[in-house]
Amino acid sequence: MHSLMRRAWVDIDLGALLRNGTTVAAHAGVPLLPMVKADAYGLGAVRVARTLEQLNPWGFGVATIGEGEELRRAAIARPVLVFTPLLVEEFDAAIRADLTPTLGDVHSITRWSETGRPWQLAVDTGMSRAGVQWNEIDALLAVVRDVPPQGVFTHFHSAERNDATRAVQEKRFAEAVARLPVRPPMVHAENSPAVEHGGASEWSVVRPGVFLYGVSSGNSPQIRPEQVASLRARVVDLRTIDDGETVSYGGTYRAAGTRRIATLAIGYADGYRRVLGNRASVLLRGKRAPVAGVVTMDMTMVDVTDVECEVGDVATLIGADGDERIDVTDVAALGDLSPYEVLTGLRGRLPRRYVGGEG
Ligand SMILES: *Cc1c(COP(=O)(O)O)cnc(C)c1O
Repeated sequence: MHSLMRRAWVDIDLGALLRNGTTVAAHAGVPLLPMVKADAYGLGAVRVARTLEQLNPWGFGVATIGEGEELRRAAIARPVLVFTPLLVEEFDAAIRADLTPTLGDVHSITRWSETGRPWQLAVDTGMSRAGVQWNEIDALLAVVRDVPPQGVFTHFHSAERNDATRAVQEKRFAEAVARLPVRPPMVHAENSPAVEHGGASEWSVVRPGVFLYGVSSGNSPQIRPEQVASLRARVVDLRTIDDGETVSYGGTYRAAGTRRIATLAIGYADGYRRVLGNRASVLLRGKRAPVAGVVTMDMTMVDVTDVECEVGDVATLIGADGDERIDVTDVAALGDLSPYEVLTGLRGRLPRRYVGGEG
């Protein structure tokens, strides 16, 4: 066994990633612009991008210059869009790494236009986060006429709810795009939940993130992803405790009768959140074992009274074991967390082990 896998790790199924990408592209009927920001939601941007290259994506989406530079160092040659607004001071670095900024104010567009390089126009239709507000686009028309953007896009704030806000945002977006002197060659909007709840895309590309990484937004989606990431940790200690003894900080778990407690070598410093204590379960030898007491920084205790296990056994905290499985969304719901937070949190000390994914 690889020495890194002795303690706790994330298994990443690149074959499932590829199939999820195929599912999105087939459903939307347009090329992908996969979002690989935040190290591909914690799964490893370079491995993810290399795998998805097999689907001929238009390019990739990141949040920072550093993330774009990492893709370039790995010889990813397609366009890379940076979706968080860049400061003018960052332009030189963006040029050196051949990154495409998403801009929305006159000052930065004017400065960027001096480079003669492509850029895309961000339109805020209700997220109130980045880009020009849809009803203030007239302020940009002069500069946009001089240096037309390669693309224009917006971002939905509640697509997973599949409610009326999407139509409102789409209408605002259409109005803003119609006011541009020339329709840009590329127009895009859909994130994963928008693809899951929509039909074929009416735009040029779709921008899925979380669906690729195996997380569905629920609410009767039209397509479903396969699970990509599994979180595993080894049993490193075992004890039997008497009736009334407590487990972990604060003594929040109290044994009702004699209980068998296993210690897993994973904690909140690995991204298995403290709040999951006394709420979540793990899988051991295909059976569920509840987390006993709060999760500590480096270790998590589980009640294995009804599960036979030994030191060295591998527990599954997210993923499948036998007929049982635990999804990212299950863990998120138990901890009142967003599934995005759970996925992006699996970092730091956790090595990643990749399987599959070759075309
Ligand atoms: C993160 C992000 C996406 C992808 O969102 P998912 O819900 O993970 O599919 C798409 N577009 C923009 C602008 C984003 O920031």
